[in-house]
Amino acid sequence: MSAGRRILLLGPPGAGKGTQAARLVARYGIPQISTGEMLRAAVAEGGEVGESARAYMDRGELVPDEIVVRGVAERLGRPDARGGFILDGFPRSPSQARALDALLEKAGIGLTHCLLLVVDEGELAARLRKRATREGRSDDSEDVIRKRMVTYGEKTAPVVEHYRARGILTEIDAVGSEEQVAERVEEAIRS
Ligand code: AMP
Repeated sequence: MSAGRRILLLGPPGAGKGTQAARLVARYGIPQISTGEMLRAAVAEGGEVGESARAYMDRGELVPDEIVVRGVAERLGRPDARGGFILDGFPRSPSQARALDALLEKAGIGLTHCLLLVVDEGELAARLRKRATREGRSDDSEDVIRKRMVTYGEKTAPVVEHYRARGILTEIDAVGSEEQVAERVEEAIRS
């Protein structure tokens, strides 16, 4: 975990973090570390961790820190993360942001980029509804979408301030085509 780009993607559900992260994977050859993907994989596996995570996910609430932070710590420690990584969907609360600070400090590294994808609420709800039809994610139902938005406002929005206060946050207008947003992301990473 020394050289390379260590990128944090922030933004509400439906902002396009996963989509843009996948493009960055292809562009820079660094792994995407998505806690949502990790948790969905654990649920699909059907083990104990997956079982306990599923209940929170289906309610649109945050899965407890001990599960998520352990997963991220393990993932960051793998050899392929040494050349950099893209974090997507983590940290999602101030306590997770502090846990990430501690993990990075222990590894003697910092984030190189912290990008906030900005999309207004009406557009977000429309995107999530579209994704529900396309991917059939069980947490993309109307009720759960609403709850995930509330969870974002209460728990995750303060994380934005955590990084803004440090002066490392770049806001990106994430309305437009995937390519347009990707160009803005690219520009922010280059500058
Ligand atoms: P996502 O795919 O990032 O939208 O995550 C889907 C769901 O997984 C969220 O609504 C949460 O229930 C759970 N989740 C994902 N990342 C985290 C995290 N960092 N902390 C707690 N729960 C998470």
